[in-house]
Amino acid sequence: MYSLCSKLLTSFNPTHCLIRWKHYDVTIVGGGIMGMSSAFFLSKRVPSSSICVLERDRTYSMASTPRSVGSIRQQFSLRENIQLSSYSFDFLQNINSQLRVDDPIDIGFTSGGYCFLATERMRDNLLENNKIQLENGAEVELIEACDLKQRFPWINPEGVSLASLGRGREGWFDPWLLLNAFKIKIHSLDIDVINDSNGSKSEITCSHLIIAAGAWSDSVIKMVNPEFGLPIRPRKRMVFVYKCKDFHDTTFPMLIDSSGVYTRREGTHDTFICGKSPDTDKDTDTLDLEVEYEFFDKEIWLLFNMH
Ligand SMILES: Cc1cc2nc3c(=O)[nH]c(=O)nc-3n(C[C@H](O)[C@H](O)[C@H](O)COP(=O)(O)OP(=O)(O)OC[C@H]3O[C@@H](n4cnc5c(N)ncnc54)[C@H](O)[C@@H]3O)c2cc1C
Repeated sequence: MYSLCSKLLTSFNPTHCLIRWKHYDVTIVGGGIMGMSSAFFLSKRVPSSSICVLERDRTYSMASTPRSVGSIRQQFSLRENIQLSSYSFDFLQNINSQLRVDDPIDIGFTSGGYCFLATERMRDNLLENNKIQLENGAEVELIEACDLKQRFPWINPEGVSLASLGRGREGWFDPWLLLNAFKIKIHSLDIDVINDSNGSKSEITCSHLIIAAGAWSDSVIKMVNPEFGLPIRPRKRMVFVYKCKDFHDTTFPMLIDSSGVYTRREGTHDTFICGKSPDTDKDTDTLDLEVEYEFFDKEIWLLFNMH
């Protein structure tokens, strides 16, 4: 969050609200999940504040939020992350009391634990994380490799030393539905959301500016002052879909292999999704959204066959 007294000249033409000049207490650049939820929580905390969200692309064609795998976990190594995630989990469980305006909200939440597989080398780390997680209220269970097959008969435990399985407060949902729930709520709270650009200019002044422009946050802060910078870079992440016929284990978790490959069910039938972050030396800055199918063959499928 960046806060400053600023005058922001934007290229947005707010045709639907016909603003030509307006001062806001808070202007948020970016209307993805971070921007929209920031607007909601700010307005809840300080109802008298005037807030506006600037979103340049109402189709969210390049935004991360609709592309997300939408999974939430408690298994982190930092206390702060566990607590943030725990708050978010409670929020999602009570989403109707928080965000409902007219129709009931259903974000398609599916309960399901994350299951991290660790090699012998990663074992101590997993044990250390487990201690922090338990201290912070996470519901996690450690499973020795020799007991894994009993729990998940389809796993090949070769090379695995220990697994960590979430036993509650983890799962996945549809992030697009969550974003829309925030948008509807924000509309009902009279927060201005300004989209569209047809070349004409509107002037907005604000006392506080929040940059929630995701992968573009560094370029947005440079519009404020070219000498400023944020350590945020656009990186490519790909999610692949595959089918696994005649597989009926409904307890299949969000499985994270020691190699970093992850996979989980999508829906209730035979459809699964999977992905992996590229190795650091190949994880270059890019805004290119093309899918590289080779990545699936070389980096994911081969490792799948191991476990
Ligand atoms: C493939 C993938 C899988 C993921 N899976 C998970 C997961 O399972 N669990 C999890 O917790 N997280 C996951 N994430 C991460 C999560 O999706 C992101 O952290 C989150 O969506 C970021 O939201 P955001 O609002 O910051 O960014 P975005 O959703 O990218 O929103 C930023 C918005 O800013 C707008 N913008 C940019 N520049 C400007 C400008 N100059 N003026 C106005 N608007 C501007 C953009 O149009 C965009 O809509 C995943 C991400 C990806 C890509």
